[in-house]
Amino acid sequence: MKESYMTKRDYYETLGVTRNASDEEIKKTYRRLAMKHHPDRNGNNKEAEEQFKQIKEAYEVLSDSRKRAAYDQFGHAGVDGAAGGFGGGSNMNFTDIFGDIFGDIFGGGRGGPQRGSDLYFTLEITLEDAVFGKTAEITIPTLVACGDCHGSGAKPGTSPVTCHDCGGHGQVRMQQGFFTVQQTCPACYGKGKIIQSPCTNCHGRGRRKQNKKLSVKIPQGVDTGDRIRLTGEGEAGEAGAYAGDLYIQIQVLPHELFERDGKNLYCDVPISFVTGALGGELEVPALNGRVKLKVPAETQTGRVFRVKGMGVPSVRGGDPGDLMCKVQIETPVNLTAKQKELLKQFEKTMLPNNKHNPKSNTWFNKVKKFFEDMKF
Ligand SMILES: [Zn+2]
Ligand SMILES: [Zn+2]
Repeated sequence: MKESYMTKRDYYETLGVTRNASDEEIKKTYRRLAMKHHPDRNGNNKEAEEQFKQIKEAYEVLSDSRKRAAYDQFGHAGVDGAAGGFGGGSNMNFTDIFGDIFGDIFGGGRGGPQRGSDLYFTLEITLEDAVFGKTAEITIPTLVACGDCHGSGAKPGTSPVTCHDCGGHGQVRMQQGFFTVQQTCPACYGKGKIIQSPCTNCHGRGRRKQNKKLSVKIPQGVDTGDRIRLTGEGEAGEAGAYAGDLYIQIQVLPHELFERDGKNLYCDVPISFVTGALGGELEVPALNGRVKLKVPAETQTGRVFRVKGMGVPSVRGGDPGDLMCKVQIETPVNLTAKQKELLKQFEKTMLPNNKHNPKSNTWFNKVKKFFEDMKF
């Protein structure tokens, strides 16, 4: 479910901000990064220069609300395909390009009310919630249809009237020499309707800023990078047009005990060298409780034991993943004089030729061969 556009880095990622970062936050972050990576401060280091360029480009798009909206909606294709890269001294006017993109995609519908923007929201969840799923309550700053005029922008009791100049088409034809050119109607700015007495609540815009509360069902098994799309939960459209969509981007927080790799969970388990040598039964943590783990005798450090089915359930059905327990043999510390004495006695009972040390045995053999080969 991860998306990428060629190999170009995500602008938000470049600046290290979330998709709902405020303009102020973006500006601040940019200043800090620009100072840090400025070529003057980095002795003309090529890498710093490249990084500085990327930061500048990201900022140029994200600091401009129109460019940012286009980028949010279409990714890099929304900004650089059209202008041949911003910040490259291009003189093209972004507004025109933006209009063209919309024109192409929505079938030349430059006039008329526009669909609301899509919104992106990064939701940080714990590993437990990602594994078991949950219903998250979120609050997103968005534009909603004005309650007084129901989105029309006209004062309650009145309605927008059809524009006289264009007859409601939003476009007018102009004669220019031999050609007839179609243009956005200058009277209604392409909307096809004119509001004679604007709604006082929204000043004729039909939309108002509001923090909207939503319940989002997070399915079990989601992972960082997954997106949940809520159709119609983006910004309200202009004058009753369709609302945009809301994309919830999942970010799973690190866990103290478990590391996740796809469907499997990894967990380090420290054991004493006595348990490693003699074997034993351990209790290891799983996300939904305790699991008994049998450690056989002669277990070496780093050995991984698989507990089947105790990993992450699959988000698309199928078998759940496994819990992988990696044992780490611990060298004992804080030994008493008596314990040290016992260990020394134990050491004396060890048979020669590394009979009790399987790793040392093969290792010393390899070292011996190496010295012979190298004629040391
Ligand atoms: Zn209103
Ligand atoms: Zn008009």
